[in-house]
Amino acid sequence: MLIDLNEILSETGKEKQYKAPIEKDFFTVNNESYNYNKKSDVLFKIVNKGKKVIKVDADIDIELIMPCGRCLEDVIVPLKQTVSKDIDLKKTAQEREDDIEEDVFLNGMNLDTEVFIDNEIFVNLPMKVLCKEDCKGICYKCGTNLNTGSCDCDTTELDPRMSKILDVFNQFKEV
Ligand SMILES: [Zn+2]
Ligand SMILES: [Zn+2]
Repeated sequence: MLIDLNEILSETGKEKQYKAPIEKDFFTVNNESYNYNKKSDVLFKIVNKGKKVIKVDADIDIELIMPCGRCLEDVIVPLKQTVSKDIDLKKTAQEREDDIEEDVFLNGMNLDTEVFIDNEIFVNLPMKVLCKEDCKGICYKCGTNLNTGSCDCDTTELDPRMSKILDVFNQFKEV
């Protein structure tokens, strides 16, 4: 959704609220896509602070489904926060471009809510997702989820290259 900021700028102190839907069904980052488990409309509140400066508040309340870093089971990752930003619209497009992290959500005098929301989700994603602190992960041989089952794999087995050396060693002994 694009919010036309001209309307807000018409009068100092003017305030407007917008309900912006999250349009996509999944969130994409680093070529990975994660489905939303919950996506509430984001409430934007924009205030004209005067001198072409606006304050943008946004309430984000979503849940993403991401794989556990150890066992790959789905984990629901909630993200709930209020973002507050002052934006100086006196800056030229060039100044804005130089300021890498800021204002990529501005498109002329339009605020692109989708870009704004994606940015905020991105910077607030957890570095590591675990289904639980002590997740046992999966067996690296058979893939059994060790939280819910067990397997008979001998995970202490020697490296195959090592057993060949032992075979050679045993042949010598037999001679
Ligand atoms: Zn796990
Ligand atoms: Zn196993």
